[in-house]
Amino acid sequence: MGRVSIAPATVTLSDHFARTLPELALAWQAEHAPAPNLLALNERLAAELGLDAAWLRSPDGLRLLVGEHVPDGVTPVAQAYAGHQFGHYAPRLGDGRALLLGEVAHADGSSRDLHLKGSGRTPFARGGDGLAAVGPMLREYVVSEAMNALGIPTTRSLAVVATGRPVRRETVLPGAVLARVASSHLRVGSFQYARATGDVDLLRRLADHAIDRHHPAAADAANRYLALFEAVVAAQASLVARWMLVGFVHGVMNTDNTTISGETIDYGPCAFMEAFDPATVYSSIDHAGRYAYGNQPRVAEWNLARLAEALLPLFSDDEEQGVAQAVEALGAFRGRYNDTWSAGMAAKLGLDRPAPAPLVDDLLTLLQDNHVDHTSFFRRLGAAADGDTEPARELFLDLAGIDAWLARWRAHGPDAAAMRLVNPAYIPRNHLVEEALAAATTGDLAPLERLLDAVTAPYDERPGLDRYAEPAPADFGAAYQTFCGT
Ligand code: AMP
Ligand code: MG
Repeated sequence: MGRVSIAPATVTLSDHFARTLPELALAWQAEHAPAPNLLALNERLAAELGLDAAWLRSPDGLRLLVGEHVPDGVTPVAQAYAGHQFGHYAPRLGDGRALLLGEVAHADGSSRDLHLKGSGRTPFARGGDGLAAVGPMLREYVVSEAMNALGIPTTRSLAVVATGRPVRRETVLPGAVLARVASSHLRVGSFQYARATGDVDLLRRLADHAIDRHHPAAADAANRYLALFEAVVAAQASLVARWMLVGFVHGVMNTDNTTISGETIDYGPCAFMEAFDPATVYSSIDHAGRYAYGNQPRVAEWNLARLAEALLPLFSDDEEQGVAQAVEALGAFRGRYNDTWSAGMAAKLGLDRPAPAPLVDDLLTLLQDNHVDHTSFFRRLGAAADGDTEPARELFLDLAGIDAWLARWRAHGPDAAAMRLVNPAYIPRNHLVEEALAAATTGDLAPLERLLDAVTAPYDERPGLDRYAEPAPADFGAAYQTFCGT
């Protein structure tokens, strides 16, 4: 445990991870930030972590947020992990440009990782420069905080600090460090790495750590490691179902970007789908559409199969029996996914029981055929439940089709008020995110602040925010692409 006391604030960081799993923790220091400048600070999250926002804004606070000023006795670490990237196994990824500062106590009694992204090269950097640009770090800040406001498990963003150090990408960009807070940074790839060492004791310690931190009920099961796997299957199935319900496309669902906690992590080329289409892909590097919107449940299941392979030696001494157990446990994914998705879709439709499958299937076909904006449709459907069908139906070319569907749906007695609590008015739409990041990169933070204001209270429709509820103008382009920002 390390502690830094700088009046009036105290920051206490634990090195529990590094002590428990030294094989996965490489002591390392952040690079110097020549001119730290705070771009965004999440005061509410700071308060939950017992961190004094005024102190975080001070020069010493900024030096903590870029990793230069850590408590005595605390050593930041780069975490080791492996991972399948677009289906190809990479045995040594790890934090190439990130550091775990340590664990902080949350007001709810649990611990959270305080982690930095963009803090300089580490021994895992391979060809990378270890840096991050202002745009992508603010992008993670906005999208992760929007996801949190939508009630979707996610890593959180505490702050983005511009470093004053230029970053070379296609052009020269201002550099930044994101201070991220997560239940942990344990990934499927962490287990793949531990397994690949051949050290079963390390694998077991990692699994015990994950049980302790995320899935404590597994400790009481007859086969605790199988129970851990089952709990991760359940958490990921529910997570991805929630992504699907809001039209979120993660964009780079590699096994190193799949958490054990069930939180969304590593916002790179992610984006929210506008016109409903399962084939939607935004990432410039996802040529084959592996991580397209509609593929996400299958990819999550595939990633969990990789977790099962990594955990196999812990399931049973008899490999054949272990495989059978893993297959059965993974078999629960689809049911779990369908449960969350069906309950969520019923809620979006204002129904208090699962909607009949043809009603939902026919709606999705109509949305796709008519290129209807997913978020606007469900929000406007709330008015239709009250009898005003025009705002929803005007989104369709096939009016006879949507009229027939609306009549079938209204026969189920949808609850308009309940719908407004689950169908967001405001999501971080791609054109608004790009606009805010472009302005922030040139020093104007006002559009970012307005966007954050809209998307962090997504259900609360407010006057003056109309443009935040509208899809991108046609000239923004169907060819919109996102980039990893690495
Ligand atoms: P990501 O696709 O962002 O999840 O990153 C995949 C891997 O590449 C991780 O091991 C990262 O640490 C590493 N990486 C990404 N960008 C950089 C960079 N600019 N410098 C060093 N390593 C990086
Ligand atoms: Mg990653």
